[in-house]
Amino acid sequence: MADDASRKHVAVCGGGLVGALNACYMAKRGFTVELFEMRSDIRTQEVVRGRSINLALSVRGREALKGVGLEDKIIEKGIPMYARLIHDKDGTRRPIPYGKGKQNIMSVDRRLLNEVLLDAAEKYPNVKTYFNHKVVKCNFDTGEIVFLHDGREVKRTVDLIIGTDGAYSSIRLQMMKQPSVRFNYQQEYIPHGYMELNIPPSDDDQFAMEINYLHIWPRNEFMMIALPNLDKSYTTTIFMPFDMFESIHTEEDLMQFFTDTFPDSIPLLGEDNLKKAFFAIKALPMVTVKCYPYHVGSKVVILGDAAHAMVPFYGQGMNCGFEDCIVFSEMLDEYNNDFAKALPAYTEYRNPDAKAMCDLAMYNYVEMRASVNSYLFLLRKYFDNL
Ligand code: FAD
Repeated sequence: MADDASRKHVAVCGGGLVGALNACYMAKRGFTVELFEMRSDIRTQEVVRGRSINLALSVRGREALKGVGLEDKIIEKGIPMYARLIHDKDGTRRPIPYGKGKQNIMSVDRRLLNEVLLDAAEKYPNVKTYFNHKVVKCNFDTGEIVFLHDGREVKRTVDLIIGTDGAYSSIRLQMMKQPSVRFNYQQEYIPHGYMELNIPPSDDDQFAMEINYLHIWPRNEFMMIALPNLDKSYTTTIFMPFDMFESIHTEEDLMQFFTDTFPDSIPLLGEDNLKKAFFAIKALPMVTVKCYPYHVGSKVVILGDAAHAMVPFYGQGMNCGFEDCIVFSEMLDEYNNDFAKALPAYTEYRNPDAKAMCDLAMYNYVEMRASVNSYLFLLRKYFDNL
């Protein structure tokens, strides 16, 4: 039997993009929400380490933001990208539109987005946030969670544990260890890594390239992309097999590689800037995670990357995680907040779609670096856009 929403106590574990948004969704339902995040509060940090600096926000993600009244706030701080702008080796640039007319995806700053979402969650009187709280153990029968905070254990017992703790989810790990759940799990690292560089504003403080595009340097086996930022810089990401990254040992190797493959980007990145940045950081891996089910009994459910991490080439990891928040909330509507019914229904409904997104992302892994170069691809785009 479902009971009064305000008596439902939920713990959202992981205060990244999906956790912070989901806390808003759960608070809007009237639940008592506690949000626990392992890191310290990003709003108080000067430098936030982690993944991509900016992300492409699409319709799927915008709908989810709209559901809690945040779409406009984010959009006003985003930069629309109406097309990909392909950079050929000879310096030619050609656009491939994303859709018709003004259809676009938005370049948004990851940190800013997370900050807005955390602020929004905290505005609900029924939400409390806790930082430096790392989930270490859960009991899926009783709803007890154990966190590590300042070297000591902190415990909570709640009606529902929501795992939004990312691709390396500790909640998912504990689901896997319960034989009775018969949890299926698959993970795949691709041979490519990614490294983020930066194209600064021009000397006269303008964007150094065309603004409203997602710039792509497709080179079949590898590629580079650049998304615009509000400060007029571009976050520029190289995706390349790890062994290629590792074959670049010296500044000479690096400049030779850029001269051969991305020559027009050298003056934009700046030779010194490029040399410094490239050797200061390491390429990072990318993983796909598929699993089933997304819940255990009536006490735990996983959303976002914890349930379906995907490679970034379809630009849908966050968007899909945001959409999870809508779908999960709709399931709670349908089953009148009865977790015992809503959780299995959520798994059954969401799992095939999320797996399909993981597959599409993998498919786009090839398309982005190679097929955007192909004649057939251009023909297809041409007819799509008629
Ligand atoms: P995360 O963002 O990983 O957040 C998880 C949170 O949980 C973190 O804050 C972490 O500190 C916390 N946590 C972890 N373990 C614990 C614990 N034990 N206890 C408590 N807290 C914990 N997606 C798009 O839609 N568009 C894009 O353009 C795009 N570009 C990308 C580019 C790159 C290079 C990469 C790598 C990814 C990209 N993505 C993109 C994917 C996107 O980053 C993820 O899908 C998104 O961040 C998932 O959000 P999340 O909240 O589920 O997980």
